[in-house]
Amino acid sequence: MSKSKKSALEEKKGVSFSEITSKSSIDAFKNKRKADIDTSNLIESLLNKDITALSRAITLIESKNPQHKVKATNILQACLPHANNSIRIGITGVPGVGKSTFIETFGKHLTAFGKRVAVLAIDPSSTITKGSILGDKTRMEELVKDENAFIRPSASGDSLGGVARKTRESIILCEAAGFDVIIIETVGVGQSETTVHSMVDFFLLLKLAGAGDELQGIKRGIIEMADAIAINKADGDNLKRAKLAKVEFNRALHLYPTKSSNWQPQVTLCSALKNEGIDAIWDIISDYIKTTTNNNYFNTNRNEQNKYWLIQTIEEQLKSNFFNTPKIKKALENQLELLETNQTTPFAAAEYLLKLYS
Ligand code: GDP
Repeated sequence: MSKSKKSALEEKKGVSFSEITSKSSIDAFKNKRKADIDTSNLIESLLNKDITALSRAITLIESKNPQHKVKATNILQACLPHANNSIRIGITGVPGVGKSTFIETFGKHLTAFGKRVAVLAIDPSSTITKGSILGDKTRMEELVKDENAFIRPSASGDSLGGVARKTRESIILCEAAGFDVIIIETVGVGQSETTVHSMVDFFLLLKLAGAGDELQGIKRGIIEMADAIAINKADGDNLKRAKLAKVEFNRALHLYPTKSSNWQPQVTLCSALKNEGIDAIWDIISDYIKTTTNNNYFNTNRNEQNKYWLIQTIEEQLKSNFFNTPKIKKALENQLELLETNQTTPFAAAEYLLKLYS
């Protein structure tokens, strides 16, 4: 073979000629090429709105296998230019408030007028139980069957930060696969509401009418995050109490300073079970989108969220690299012993470990 042909081949295949000629290298090369073809097929199908391809891509994102991670990064890169064209809605509420019933009714309301709806979840409790809020197959039975809907349970077995990153990336994939509405459900354990709030355009809090003490036991900050509060199960005997709760929440909301979105949060009643008040919630969301698009908050907020996630990802990655470095693991153990016997302080130990790492 002429020298130029040989080097052209080397350049094309990204490996040296002698490497190409050994059998294992040829196999490795063939495998790499097959993987590349698989990835580009997957991307093409995903962009063509193929739900199976979308599922497979999300599985790659969730995988801890380094080869899968490389594929996932390539897929994300290819999807990015096609993302960003959706409305991202966060939904939270205590277990039993009716989240899955609501998402099913709301989702079907949207698909009925041609919207494509993806439902993702952030369930930090699944890191402990390895279960997931969307894992139960009986949830959203109707929506699951709807060809314009896609439902994906929460990734499990990871920290909240890990689950959040995967969900952020899944949002990009769902958008690239042509979903116009992305719903992110959370059950409100730990910091999960704040996490969801930082990745959505609109945040909906589902509540139940209580015994006139609506604001008791409600997590600090949650009201401030809500763009709307929907009092669910406003049906039958519950309707009167729900109406009273609405008055109380409205009064409470007026005590908060105006949001930077300039949006005045709304309180509304609904019955997810009876499909009442669901269209009004979509109207509120549409109003919100119109208002915040006009005053440019919508874009500014997404940019701010991107910056936040950049910093978050770096922090997570640095932390994980730090704690997984063998010499740090060993030194940390030593420092902890010294700390227990009062031979060092937390600050001196931290400084020592950070110096050792850098
Ligand atoms: P989640 O745990 O928040 O997802 O709540 P579910 O959607 O599983 O609902 C919990 C229970 O409340 C179920 O038995 C539902 O049928 C019931 N439920 C949900 N929405 C309504 C509603 O609008 N009205 C009434 N009466 N019951 C509802």
